[in-house]
Amino acid sequence: MDLHSQLQDAWAGIITTYKPGTIELAGSITTQIVGFIIPATLYMLIDALFPRFSQRHKIQPARRQPTRQQIIHCTKVTLFNHLWIAALHALLVSLNGLDHTAVNLDPTIPPWTTFTTDFIFALLAREISFYYVHRALHHPSIYAYIHKMHHKYTTPVSFAAEYAHPVEHLLANVLPITLPLYLKGAHYLSMILFAVFELWEAAADHSGYDFLKLPPAELHDLHHEKFRVNYGTIGLMDWVHGTDVVGWDRGKGREG
Ligand SMILES: [Zn+2]
Ligand SMILES: [Zn+2]
Repeated sequence: MDLHSQLQDAWAGIITTYKPGTIELAGSITTQIVGFIIPATLYMLIDALFPRFSQRHKIQPARRQPTRQQIIHCTKVTLFNHLWIAALHALLVSLNGLDHTAVNLDPTIPPWTTFTTDFIFALLAREISFYYVHRALHHPSIYAYIHKMHHKYTTPVSFAAEYAHPVEHLLANVLPITLPLYLKGAHYLSMILFAVFELWEAAADHSGYDFLKLPPAELHDLHHEKFRVNYGTIGLMDWVHGTDVVGWDRGKGREG
């Protein structure tokens, strides 16, 4: 049996066993654990268990790395952000009733071609929406109130990916990943696969390691180091707007 048929059988089993609301909530919590918490923890374990290997592969030098206390604080805030999003989702699901769901739980899963087109659509939609939300968060009139918090770590670590003000966490982290495919009416499994990829990418982007090459983690690491460069996620919108070079705003009004 090929992979698609196996996936179809597993999905059919889930659909007939559990209530729609339970599947929706379990899907989002599993996505956060598998896509972010496990990979982010593994990156942190590399820091702790293999310091010499870590030093060789860190983008920024050892003297700029955050202290143990800073890392613990960052991890607590990020886990709290995951917790309140899960609690909010649980509240919405319970208000809706477990026999209902807001997502597409079609018992027939889409073909690989649909998974692929959904993925490309979501990648572009996320790049465009994140770029403009992120640039807006850098506007001098609001930077200090919301986004300054995420920039506390000028040398990021994996858990710093979601070290953010709750407003930013919702507007810049959660919605650009989930809303486009939700509005498109994509299958829930398509939403889950994309979200797992994006959450892992956020952890890798902030890990401080040079492992990630497509897109390179150096892009967002440089944003944390220099602030006014690389506002997007894959480099596309920064290329369009010319914000992919440090100093692009020289002579213009300074942002935060
Ligand atoms: Zn960041
Ligand atoms: Zn920023």
